[in-house]
Amino acid sequence: MQDSSRLIAIGADVGGTQTRAAAVDRTGKILARYCRRTDEADGADRVVTWLVGAIENTRDEVGIGSSVEIRLGVALPGTLDQQRRTVVRSINLPFLEGYPFIDELARRTRCPTILYTDAEAATWGEYVSCAPRPGRFVHLRLGTGIACGVVVEGRLQRLDAGRSEHLDALIIDNTAGARPCPCGRRGCLETVASGRALEERAREVGYANGIADLRQAWEQGDDTAVALLQKVTDTLMAALRNLATHFQPGVICLGGGVVTGLPCLPDRTMARLQAVRDEDSKTEVSVVPARLGDDAGLIGAALLAMDRS
Ligand SMILES: [Zn+2]
Repeated sequence: MQDSSRLIAIGADVGGTQTRAAAVDRTGKILARYCRRTDEADGADRVVTWLVGAIENTRDEVGIGSSVEIRLGVALPGTLDQQRRTVVRSINLPFLEGYPFIDELARRTRCPTILYTDAEAATWGEYVSCAPRPGRFVHLRLGTGIACGVVVEGRLQRLDAGRSEHLDALIIDNTAGARPCPCGRRGCLETVASGRALEERAREVGYANGIADLRQAWEQGDDTAVALLQKVTDTLMAALRNLATHFQPGVICLGGGVVTGLPCLPDRTMARLQAVRDEDSKTEVSVVPARLGDDAGLIGAALLAMDRS
């Protein structure tokens, strides 16, 4: 059995805007962290070089000696190859596609390294932070795009890693006029409730600064903002019902940049769900806001790497 005092995990989260690395203890507490802007012009090799430096700095800062085993968990947005060594497709980070990310990182750091999608890593981070932990858990992440992750009986389910299309449960419009989604399907939740779709829609109706202006207008009772958020809430409710039917979770956790930027959205959704629950005592799923914010993927990737035997 592994002596946990001689094992530490470092999580890395390479996102569309930021690349981050952090040493994390067994409880999910961040011990040291490093962050830089993700710059496509740097290319994949520079991203790995920065991560290697950040991992070295983390070792020094936390005082990790040579006898301590370090495991690396990396979270990336996109579709992974079957061996989890590279990203096959990434809408947000196309310059990483096909690059031998894990082999390079493992070679340069000499640490066991494993790759997860950002949705998987964030799902695990949020699941571990749940108290008590439910038997079945779904994390729906409304970021630039939309993804979800599922944990069943303490095990992360591998739903999205090798697929580029959204799950059936995330299709909310089956009509002929359903909008095309970047994943290739039509009528996905992403076409209405993702950061990308909401920014676009907010600008179309006259909010020059997108979601930030939409939030302010909603807070001031502006009719257009109220109507737009009503539609988004209705759509989100439909997706939550689908997820509840399909996965039968005890808890659905809502996270991602849209939830942080528009806190009225989860608040309204949870109020609507509470009303449904009051009418139908058989509805047992709880919808909760994410707790870890931007750190969910970073912490989840580290904890997944630590628990991997
Ligand atoms: Zn889609």
